[in-house]
Amino acid sequence: MFHPNKNKLLQLFEKEGSERELKALHAHVADCPRCAQYLQRLQRIERALNQLEEATPPSYSFMLIQNEIRRRAALPVPEPPAIRMRPLIQIVGVIGTMLTMVFIIQRWLIPTAVWDRLQECELVTILGQYGSLLVLMFALISFFVLAFTPILILEKNKTVFPAK
Ligand SMILES: [Zn+2]
Repeated sequence: MFHPNKNKLLQLFEKEGSERELKALHAHVADCPRCAQYLQRLQRIERALNQLEEATPPSYSFMLIQNEIRRRAALPVPEPPAIRMRPLIQIVGVIGTMLTMVFIIQRWLIPTAVWDRLQECELVTILGQYGSLLVLMFALISFFVLAFTPILILEKNKTVFPAK
């Protein structure tokens, strides 16, 4: 047997919807004990609700709410976490050191024959003196970082897990 869902039965209970729809629902409920029982339950709930007395909140409710608002407003506002400056300063320091070193190497390298050779490369003409040295430095630093990272990680683990 096909049963209408509970929303449809509620619709019948509230007598909402088209006349045709309500008529069909009525016809079903008349034949179906299960749906009829649900409809009776809705009626019992409504009767119980109607028997409840109207209650007004105590006059001091508003004051209690206001006091609670004031209490919460007085609580200290949690401070947002401060921006960590140290990593930024370190990055700026590394970049600054790199640029200074490039400047020093540039002055030392240019009078030599190596620089004459380098200038023949196409990449060097595109990047310019400073640019190509910067790329060279970056490559060298990357190389050293990659070379030393495993050692540094091993060292770190050694301190974290001391030998027995
Ligand atoms: Zn039914």
